Amino acid sequence: MKLERFAKRRRKLIRSLKQLGVDALLVTDFTNVTYLTGFSGDDSFLLIGPQQTVLISDSRYTIQIGEECPDIDAHFRSNRVPIMEATGKLLRKAKPSKLAVESDSLTVAEFEELSKQTKSLEIVPLSGLVETLREIKDSTEIASIREAVRMAEQGFAVIRASLVGRMSELEAAHELEHSMRKFGATRAGFDPIVAVGARAALPHAHPSKVTMETDDFVLFDWGAETADGYRSDLTRVLVTGKISTKLEKIYRVVLKAQLRGIKAIRPGAKGCDVDKAARSVIEKAGYGKRFGHGLGHGIGLKIHEGGRFSPTSETVLKPGMVMTVEPGIYIPGWGGVRIEDDILVTHDGHEVLTSVPKEFEQAVIR
Ligand code: ZN
Ligand code: ZN
Repeated sequence: MKLERFAKRRRKLIRSLKQLGVDALLVTDFTNVTYLTGFSGDDSFLLIGPQQTVLISDSRYTIQIGEECPDIDAHFRSNRVPIMEATGKLLRKAKPSKLAVESDSLTVAEFEELSKQTKSLEIVPLSGLVETLREIKDSTEIASIREAVRMAEQGFAVIRASLVGRMSELEAAHELEHSMRKFGATRAGFDPIVAVGARAALPHAHPSKVTMETDDFVLFDWGAETADGYRSDLTRVLVTGKISTKLEKIYRVVLKAQLRGIKAIRPGAKGCDVDKAARSVIEKAGYGKRFGHGLGHGIGLKIHEGGRFSPTSETVLKPGMVMTVEPGIYIPGWGGVRIEDDILVTHDGHEVLTSVPKEFEQAVIR
C-alpha cells in the first residue's frame, strides 16, 4: 500500500525522537514534509511525535491533502492566521515539554516567533534527522530514481542525435529539457549544464549563446525529475569536432578514475575512501590540482542529498543509498571533462543505474 511507506518512515522518525528524549519535532523543511507524508505541496509544517502527528497547512491544500495523505490529521489555518501562530496554538494545546526544530530550515525570525508563541516550552535545534533517514532509499524510491534515469537517458539520446554546429548551449539545454519531458519527466532535475570547450572548465557553467562549432567538445550535466519528485544526475562529454590528443588523454584519466571510484562502492566503505580511490588516479596522472570538488553526493528528492564522497567524508555506505560518482579535470582556458553516473549501494556491492555509453570512442559523434 502506497500510504504505508510514509507511515513506516514516520514510525522510524518517532523511534529516533524517543531515543533523543524529545516529545515532538516540528518539520519545517517542505521536502522533509513530503518525504514523511506524501504531500507534495509547499507552505506546510508537520508536527510529529509519539503523542500526535498533525500537518499544519492552509485551505488551498484541503483537496490535495485529502488525496495525497488521507491518513494524516491536518489542521487548515485560515489565511488571516500566519503559520507560526497556528503552530503556536497547536503546541500550547499539545503541551510537549521538549520540542525539536530543524535547525537547517527554521529561520531565526521563525524561531523567535515560535519562542514567543510557546513561552515555557523547551526548544532544541536538531540537524539532519529526517535527512539521515532519506539517505537510505526504499524500493519505491529506487524505482522512482530508475525512472528518472530512464527519462534523462532517453532525452539525452535525442539531443545527441540532433546536435548541429550552429546550435547554441542554450538551445541544446532547452531541447534536452523538452525531450526529457516528452519521455515523462515533470521537469529537469536541475537546470542542465551545457558547456562548449573552454566553458566546460567551469564546473557549474550556465548555458550561453556560444555554439557547438566554437570548439571541439561539449559537456552536458543533466537529469530528470519524476512526478513524485525523484531525480537523476548524469554528466557526459561529447566530441563534436576534431579529436585532440590532450582531450583524449584527459578523458581517459577521468574515466579510469570514475571506474575506480565506482569499484570501491560497497556497504561499509567510507566516503573518503571511495573519493581516494578515484582521486589518486587523477593525482598520479598529474592533474590532482585540477580536480577541485568532491567525488559525489547522494540524490533523491533533492539533487544534492546526504551522503558525500570527498576527502573528508565520514559517510559510511549502506544498502539503499544512491550516490553519484563524478570526477573531473578542469583546465582554465582549455576546458574540462567530467563523467558522472548514479550508483545504488546493494547488499553485496553496487549497481550502476545509468547506462549512457562512456568509452572515449563512444563519446565521439563526429
Ligand atoms: Zn551532475
Ligand atoms: Zn552531481
